[in-house]
Amino acid sequence: MAEQGNGQGWTQRTRMAAAGRRPREQFGYVNTPIYRGSTVLFPTYADLAARTGRFSYGTAGTPTTQALEEAWSELSGAETTVLTPSGLAAIAVALMTATAAGDHVLVMDSVYRPTRQFCDTMLARFGVAVTYFDPMLPADEVRALVRPETRAMMLEAPGSQSFEVPDLPAIVALARERDLCTILDNTWATPVFLAPHALGIDLAIEAGTKYLSGHSDLLMGLVSANAAWAKRLRATFDSFAILPGPEDVFLALRGFRTLDLRLREAERQGLAMARWFKARPEVARVLHPALPDCPGHGNWARDFRGSTGLFSVLLHPAPVAAVAAMLDGLRLFGMGYSWGGYESLVIPFDCAGYRSATRWRSDGPALRFSIGLEDVADLQADLDSGFARLRAAC
Ligand SMILES: *Cc1c(COP(=O)(O)O)cnc(C)c1O
Repeated sequence: MAEQGNGQGWTQRTRMAAAGRRPREQFGYVNTPIYRGSTVLFPTYADLAARTGRFSYGTAGTPTTQALEEAWSELSGAETTVLTPSGLAAIAVALMTATAAGDHVLVMDSVYRPTRQFCDTMLARFGVAVTYFDPMLPADEVRALVRPETRAMMLEAPGSQSFEVPDLPAIVALARERDLCTILDNTWATPVFLAPHALGIDLAIEAGTKYLSGHSDLLMGLVSANAAWAKRLRATFDSFAILPGPEDVFLALRGFRTLDLRLREAERQGLAMARWFKARPEVARVLHPALPDCPGHGNWARDFRGSTGLFSVLLHPAPVAAVAAMLDGLRLFGMGYSWGGYESLVIPFDCAGYRSATRWRSDGPALRFSIGLEDVADLQADLDSGFARLRAAC
């Protein structure tokens, strides 16, 4: 079979089956195995002095990490990809790549909450100032927030918990005009449904913990860069040398092979459940980018190739005890953080306490659902009983 890099003309799905594989270097075995190691031996003094060979030391990568990096770069349309031990570490590496003391960064108000925490604590300590902005603010109004020392924009689409879909092409155009580095947390769509670098994004982040793993059994982050930012990303990454373990890289690469298939199913399941919620009398609003109710739905329809299984549901006003009765009795929906696994999850949330450029509005309790691979009819029956408990306690 052809080795990696001969995929011109193939569709994305086909390239995802072929990317990052080098069977001839692995005795013909289909998958690159788990390489464990710190030391790489050089055969001669001259080889050591010249650092010949693809690998030189554990922190500089192994055939296992290279396979996932190459596969991810191919899917993302990126020049390079680095792997980190969590999604949050990927965000930290990207922000440290794009900023220096004295800089100013524009950050979407709807970013993942720990991203905000990193900006307000670590970036602040290193002398980087931050301004939050409304993800739905027109680019012309965002322009007014750009200062002479502004260097980067931290974006997320759709927003965490609240699912606003910003006008990414307009924001990227503004960033280009003012020479700002654009960082996009693309975890929800993954590069399967939003090709970040084709859109002009400089650094794209994926929490591989979510759909890439798909099984709630590992933590992983990926940062991909276009040609302009590849060297600087790699240099920042090399300075930190924070690496995921080889078993997790192997499992993430295994997840990569079925990512397209699993996301298409997540889309189907997610839409079926979102539409079902929308028809429920207990539900005030469903925030799902593929439904017209969602702020920025038009942006989603224009820029994204699909939707996934994570969305929010705003209930009509109900006491906390009634929501607890609803959630505590669920048999198929686990209550816990993270998402994108094969099993369905739910968490209650409230953004009111930590948004600063926007005001979070929900008259009633808000729930975020991650729809897994269970049968939709069983999930609906479970929630039907849940809603009965909610009504009984109202
Ligand atoms: C979960 C998540 C992260 C962080 O990933 P971890 O691996 O849990 O650190 C980053 N961004 C988004 C949008 C997430 O949902």
